Amino acid sequence: MDFKIGIGYDVHRLAENRKLVLGGVHIPCEMGLDGHSDADVAIHALMDSILGALGKGDIGVMFPDTDEKYAGISSVFLLEEVAKLMRSEGYTLSNADMVIIAQNPKLRPFIDSMETIISCALGVEKSKINIKATTEEGLGFTGEGLGIGAKAVCMICRIKTG
Ligand code: MG
Repeated sequence: MDFKIGIGYDVHRLAENRKLVLGGVHIPCEMGLDGHSDADVAIHALMDSILGALGKGDIGVMFPDTDEKYAGISSVFLLEEVAKLMRSEGYTLSNADMVIIAQNPKLRPFIDSMETIISCALGVEKSKINIKATTEEGLGFTGEGLGIGAKAVCMICRIKTG
């Protein structure tokens, strides 16, 4: 079997008057993440891990933030585009493991919905997506509530030969 692995990491600043969207789920919070798209840092890290495994650079190459058509766009839609690219390259996702690093709010109640949305966008079984959340114990920029980070690793598996 032909397997490839990839890693992704992303950070966005917390800002006022923005919705907080993580893993495709709108999470009630006084602050949201700032960015060109919906700034879904978890999905951005996941997309970068898949593009890395494919050897296709990163999301900045695929979806330039200078392109107005991506302004405010749902990152779930972008993930669907990455999934299409993965399939066209002959691969499917074996599994992905993700960590969201945020001091607040508590994310545990939203993890199951995130896993459902992400697995649907990728067209894979929900069991292939694992999402964890952690704080950094009040340390650093996540601990001070300045931003939220996310890390993802994935493995992809060739489904087409040739
Ligand atoms: Mg990003």
